[in-house]
Amino acid sequence: MPPVSRFHLAIPFNRPFATGAEFGYIREAIDGLQLSGNGRFAALCSSWLREQTGAGGALLTPSCTAALELAALLSRIEPGDEVIMPSFTFSSTATAFALRGATLVFVDVRPDTLNIDEAAVAGAVTGRTRAIVPIHYAGVPAELDSLSATAEAAGAVLIEDAAHALGSTYRGRPVGGDSPLAALSFHETKNLTCGEGGALLLNDPELVERAEIMQEKGTDRARLFRGEVDRYTWVDIGSSFLLSEINAAFLWAQFEAADVILQRRLAIWDAYHEALAPLEAAGLLRRPIVPAHCTHNAHLYYLLLPEEAARDALIESLRGDGVAAIFHYVPLHSSRAGRRYGRTQGALPVTDDVSRRLVRLPLWVGMGPDELGRVVRGVAAAVGHG
Ligand SMILES: *Cc1c(COP(=O)(O)O)cnc(C)c1O
Repeated sequence: MPPVSRFHLAIPFNRPFATGAEFGYIREAIDGLQLSGNGRFAALCSSWLREQTGAGGALLTPSCTAALELAALLSRIEPGDEVIMPSFTFSSTATAFALRGATLVFVDVRPDTLNIDEAAVAGAVTGRTRAIVPIHYAGVPAELDSLSATAEAAGAVLIEDAAHALGSTYRGRPVGGDSPLAALSFHETKNLTCGEGGALLLNDPELVERAEIMQEKGTDRARLFRGEVDRYTWVDIGSSFLLSEINAAFLWAQFEAADVILQRRLAIWDAYHEALAPLEAAGLLRRPIVPAHCTHNAHLYYLLLPEEAARDALIESLRGDGVAAIFHYVPLHSSRAGRRYGRTQGALPVTDDVSRRLVRLPLWVGMGPDELGRVVRGVAAAVGHG
């Protein structure tokens, strides 16, 4: 069979969801005559994010990658500084800090949640550690209390790459809301989207002020808008870390529908979880684990197969059924750039193991019971169940 792009299968892996209100808001932005960043829709989105997460500040950025780059600048990461992060993550987590000349220190993940192993983080701290950057894999929170205590003891800053996790909670607290810095993504593959987009959540008022300057090419333009100065000038280094008002208008429609989107995603996630329970009971695969003190946002549904060959066979078999299922991160410590910009703290056996056995199933708003049934039957057939 010739290779078929996963984008052209009957049941795609992802389908970006539009609420229907996006066009109207974009029209309003056009009529409002401001299409550049930090307009009316950006302000609405920012206050919504602050309300939802409890963060003191929220700046919309062109992407989560840009938000991480801004976080690295704000944290004054310099050549020779060490930044501890999982190897089981996306390149953005790493490149934002490699850009500042940092040495990345890759540590292993926990076998249950596939999140950074907080004990390994504590063991990787040195006198040069300047930042600790967890992700919340699949929207399931990492052990934030322990990570935050380790960061504090090390004199390092905790920067959450919360790209997966807007809407998840850790011990009842919204993810991203408590840390000094947290980056969010509104890429088309994330739960809430505007195509490409992101945000930086902040809690230190001094950092908020500096971030506003760095976001606006190093100028105090934000103070001009608030009427605090009568002209704006170049005051610091920075870049253009702004999200266009067109994207912010699109994003506002998604924020308004956030509860509905979350409920629909959770319903699909729960349906997978229930339908696949017998396969787990039969020892054919492992389902995601959500610790009791966490809630998740159904960002993705993954399975761990007993071995790599079984995982690859499952992907192949589902493709034959018209279902796009895909693997996930190729560990950064074994990648070309990862070897150049980072080092590992000991061996990373869990990362090496789970990255070979993991597969993600389709999950998008609009997926109905027929589609879900087809995926589940495909999985059962491929692993030889029933
Ligand atoms: C999607 C993602 C990013 C990058 O997000 P962009 O908005 O595309 O820059 C970063 N980190 C993680 C963990 C992601 O999943």
